[in-house]
This record gives sequence, C-alpha cells and structure tokens, in this order.
Amino acid sequence: MNDSYRTDAGMPQQPESCWLASTEQRAFDKLSGDLKVNIAVVGAGITGITTAYLLAKAGKEVVLLEAGKVLNGTTGYTTAKVTAQHHLIYDEFISHFGEENTRLYYEANRDGLNFIKDMVAEHAIECDWTEEDAYVYTAAEDKVQAIRNEFKAYEKLGIPGAYMDSIPLPIPARAAVVMKNQARFHPIPYLLRLLDEFVRLGGRVYEQTTVQKVEEGIPNFITTDAGHRIECLDVVSCSHFPVFEGGMYYAKMHADSSYALAVKSDLEYPGGMYISAENPKRSIRAVDYNGEKLLLIGGESHKTGQGIDTIKHYEALKSFAEQNFSVREIAYRWSTNDYGTLDKMPYIGMNSNNTPNSFVATGYRKWGMTTGTIAAVILRDMMFGKQPL
Ligand SMILES: Cc1cc2nc3c(=O)[nH]c(=O)nc-3n(C[C@H](O)[C@H](O)[C@H](O)COP(=O)(O)OP(=O)(O)OC[C@H]3O[C@@H](n4cnc5c(N)ncnc54)[C@H](O)[C@@H]3O)c2cc1C
Repeated sequence: MNDSYRTDAGMPQQPESCWLASTEQRAFDKLSGDLKVNIAVVGAGITGITTAYLLAKAGKEVVLLEAGKVLNGTTGYTTAKVTAQHHLIYDEFISHFGEENTRLYYEANRDGLNFIKDMVAEHAIECDWTEEDAYVYTAAEDKVQAIRNEFKAYEKLGIPGAYMDSIPLPIPARAAVVMKNQARFHPIPYLLRLLDEFVRLGGRVYEQTTVQKVEEGIPNFITTDAGHRIECLDVVSCSHFPVFEGGMYYAKMHADSSYALAVKSDLEYPGGMYISAENPKRSIRAVDYNGEKLLLIGGESHKTGQGIDTIKHYEALKSFAEQNFSVREIAYRWSTNDYGTLDKMPYIGMNSNNTPNSFVATGYRKWGMTTGTIAAVILRDMMFGKQPL
C-alpha cells in the first residue's frame, strides 16, 4: 500500500480496511503435534468451512488447517453477492460447453444460493440475508448485443430473468439482463455459525498452521510448516491456490486483483445488485451496516501484479461513486484477489485421476459465494460415492 495515499482527501485514513473486518472473530490454537484423522481440510474460507461442516455433519472426523486466521483470505474481503449471475457467462458457456453442461453450471450455483438460504433459515443466522434481483447492465452500444444474447441464453436454460432497456439505479444504461431473486448477505456471521457447528460436531480447527507438503496416497501424509505430520485418508485443498505439487495449477490458473469502496451516500437506493458489462467493470450493491445503508462499489480488476498504481484504482472508483451516488463519506476501501481458470470453469473434484483421496476446489472467478458453497456439497458427495449433481 502506498503510504501517501493515507492522507488523500476524502479517503479513510486507515491504509486498508474492509466492511467485513470489524465483525466478531474466533481464535484457535496452532497445531502442536502429529495427528491421524479421517479427513484434513486445508483453508478456512467459505469453501473450507462449508466442506468441513458438511463432512463433520456426515459423521467424519475432520480437522481444518488454516495458515493464518480463519476467514482472513479472500472470503474476508468479498462483496458477497450471492448469485448465479456470474457476469455475462451463459451465452459463452453454451457455445463452449453446450446447453446441458451450461445448465448444470447454472443449477449448481442456484443450488449453492439455496443452500445458504436454507442454512440461514434453519439456524436463524443474523447475516442480513436480503433477496434482490441481479443485473448486468451496459451503457455501451457495442455491448447491447451481448446483453441480448445473454438473455436468450437465460431463456434457453430456463433461468428466471428479463431483458431491460434501463435499470433502477440512476446511472447511464442502454440495456440490462436481470436474474430474479438472487441475494446479498454478510458472510462472516454466516460462516462463523457453520464453524461453530463444525466444532460442536467434534471438528478441530488449527490456525497458524500452514500445509507445506502433501504426499498423496492411501493414506495421505501432510507436513506443516512446523514440521508436524498429519496422516489422513482424504485431504481437501480449499486453500485458494491448491496445496498439491502435481496438477500444473500455476499454468492453468491466474489471479485477478479487484478493488472496493464502502461509501455513505444520500441516494435513496432502489434495490438490486449491479455489474457493468463493459470494462472497467463497476459492481454495486447495498449493505445494511450499523443501522445505515452503505453502498459497496467494486471494480478495476486486473491480473495480479500487472496493475497501475493502487491509488489510481481507488481514485477511479471514488470518482465513479461521486459522479453517481451523492457520496457523503468513504467508510472503507480494500482490495483482494481471486483465481480464474483458462476456460472459466472452476476446478472442483479429485486432484487427479490417480489420486482418488485428494480433492480440490478453486477457480471461482470472483463468484465464490455460490460456487464455493456448492463445491463443498459436491466434494462431500464424491467422498461418499454419490454421483455429483
Ligand atoms: C474484490 C472481490 C469481490 C468479490 N465479490 C464477490 C461477490 O460479490 N460474490 C461472490 O460470489 N464472490 C465474490 N468474490 C469471490 C469470492 O470472495 C471468492 O471466490 C471466495 O471468497 C474464495 O473462497 P475460498 O474459500 O476458496 O478462498 P479463501 O477465502 O481465500 O480461503 C482460503 C484459505 O486458505 C488458506 N491457505 C492458503 N494456503 C494454505 C496452506 N498452505 N495451508 C493452510 N491454509 C492455507 C488461506 O489463508 C485462506 O484463509 C469476490 C472476490 C474479490 C476479489
């Protein structure tokens, strides 16, 4: 972070802080010896916590290993739209993977949304679960056709939605495709509740415990940074970038950085979650925060390591916010990154055909709330020999 930025007029004085950071936390011990368990889950973000919870609920003996602190990876810095509308993707996926596979992708993410919704209801989790429509909009004439094509893809796939030539927000838009009944929430209280349930079911969590090496086999052997050994029948890498040496993930995945602001605004927010079709992307959603409505404004994505000065990205978001939303104050600003894959499909499943007891879930392309959730369901089902989806 560029220190000169800290004195920038109108920006929060903290170097970087996220709207999610000031919430309740949990603390767990470091692993202090060798272990033998059924299943080791590596990484305590939305994927690892949901996976660990589901496996413990299914009666397995599970440990969750986290290099730093739980929920302090990308999940702790997300904007937490819970939606199967992953930008303009369905028309492209139909042409690359066919209608049937694309429908499976949609249904999996719809089921991810419904899983979270059901958990929130079942456990009465106070996490600001709010259902709203999701929009991809464009102000650019040359993107209107892409929006039309996306809507046609929705019709083919039976996705509840609509084509519109304006949006409820007071920003320029020529066309939009809307996906109905999506949601937004606060992921930290939601995931802390799953974590608490995991512990209640006998699961163990170790923080400050970095997996350095996995010798895959039956059983698997994990070595941690402190030199401890964990013997486990199954190992699941939910570590964002996989912990396995094989798999050539460095050649098949790339990290994208994105930036976000949480702003106080005088705008009477009309509801909805929005993302622009054109670059630089602009993502907008509301958040209820300490009795106030903030707007989360995200965007300025670029390949990690290839961006302009960080300050320029925040300034671009700030001027977009000021132009459109009567900004009173910028409360938070932060950046983080997420991995994408070459063909935009996430990697969820066995690490390789030769390693039936080691699993991976990653590559969500900044849509990990639904995909990370359904990845956990798929992995649990694979471990229990059920046909995934
Ligand atoms: C700016 C931004 C906005 C986003 N907004 C949205 C959104 O609105 N909706 C949406 O669906 N998605 C969104 N995403 C994407 C979403 O946040 C991510 O896809 C998701 O949080 C990834 O979760 P995860 O559990 O896979 O990874 P993480 O949350 O990163 O968790 C991985 C964990 O593994 C740990 N770890 C790593 N290596 C090791 C190791 N060797 N040993 C032990 N532990 C290890 C890390 O410390 C970390 O805690 C956004 C992403 C970005 C960047």
